[in-house]
Amino acid sequence: MTATSGPVAGAPPRPQRPSLSLVLPCRNEARNLETLLPLLLARVAKLAERWEIVLVDDGSTDDTAAVMQRWAAKPGFRAVQLSRNFGKEAALTAGLRHTSGEVVVSMDADMQHPPSLLEEMLVHWRQGADVVYAVRANRDDEGLIKRVGTRAFYRLLNAFEGFDVPPDGGDFRLMDRAVVDALLSLPERTRFMKGLYAWVGFQAVALPYVPGERAHGKTHFNYRRLVSLSLIGLTAFTTWPLRLATVIGMLVAFFSMLYGVFLTVAYWLWGNEVSGWTTIVVGVALLLGIQMVLIGIVGEYVGRIFEEVKARPLYVVKDVHGQGLTGR
Ligand code: UDP
Ligand code: MG
Repeated sequence: MTATSGPVAGAPPRPQRPSLSLVLPCRNEARNLETLLPLLLARVAKLAERWEIVLVDDGSTDDTAAVMQRWAAKPGFRAVQLSRNFGKEAALTAGLRHTSGEVVVSMDADMQHPPSLLEEMLVHWRQGADVVYAVRANRDDEGLIKRVGTRAFYRLLNAFEGFDVPPDGGDFRLMDRAVVDALLSLPERTRFMKGLYAWVGFQAVALPYVPGERAHGKTHFNYRRLVSLSLIGLTAFTTWPLRLATVIGMLVAFFSMLYGVFLTVAYWLWGNEVSGWTTIVVGVALLLGIQMVLIGIVGEYVGRIFEEVKARPLYVVKDVHGQGLTGR
C-alpha cells in the first residue's frame, strides 16, 4: 500500500474544483440506478462546477437501458449502451473512453461504493495524488474459502513481477486524466483492470472504506467467474508459471536420468527379474499427470495470445445518449 501526503514537489498546483467524470458500469441495475443517481447528482453538483455521469449499459436484460436513457436526457448525464454483455472490465473501459473530465472516478452501480467518499478522494487529488483507490476496510462479509483464495491469488500474482497489485483495491477509484489516458492507451484485449491499474503506475493513495450492502439484485461474480478471472489475470500479468514448467521439466528429466543410471548399474550387477510393475505404473501415471498440468499452463498462455492476436474490439457500442460534461 502506498500513501502520500502533500503536493508533489515541482508539480503545478491543482485546481480546487476540477471537472469531474463518474463512470458506472451497469448490468441489470435499473432499481439501484433509480436510488443511486439522485444521490450522486446531489453530491456531484456540490463538488464540481463541470461534471458528468457516464453510465454504461453492459447488455442488461432488465430496463436499465430505459432508465439510463431517461436520465441521459438531463444535462450532465451520458448513457453508453453496449450491444451485448461484454463483462464489467470491458464496460468500464467503454465508460472511461467516453469521459472528458480532468478527474475520473469509477464506481459500481449497486450502492456498495458510498458516494460520501468522493469528497475525500478529491482532497487527496488536490494534494497531488494521481490515483486514490478505495480499499475495503474488512473482508468479514466474505467466506473463508473466498478469503483464502484471494490471498493465494495475490501471492501468486505478485510473486516476481516488477510491480505489486494491491489485494484490496477494487474498481472504486479516482484517477487523474493522465492515468485514464495511460490506461486507455494500453492496446491489450485482456482487461484485467487491477493489473492494468498497477502497471501504469503513478502516485497512488489508498483510502479505507466500509462497502455497503448491495441494495438490489445479487453479485455477478460467482466462484466460477472469479476462478476464471484469476487465471486470466495470472496469465496476462505473469510469465513465471511458464518458467516453473521449464524448471519442473528439467528436474523430472534430471531425476529420470539418475534413475536410469541406477537401473542400468543394477542390471549389470544383479540382472533383471522383471518385477517392478508398481514402479512402472506409478511412474507413468505421475509423469503423465505432471506433463498434462504443464501443457495446460502453456495452453492458458496460448489462449491469451490467441485472444490478443484476433485483435477484436473490446466491446461494441450500440448507441450513446446524452451530452456529458455540463456546467452550472
Ligand atoms: N457489471 C457489469 N457487467 C457485468 C457484471 C457486472 O457492468 O457483466 C457491473 C455491475 O452492474 C456493478 C459492478 O459491475 O455495477 C459490480 O458488479 P457486482 O456488484 O456484481 O460485483 P461485486 O460487487 O460482487 O464484486
Ligand atoms: Mg457489488
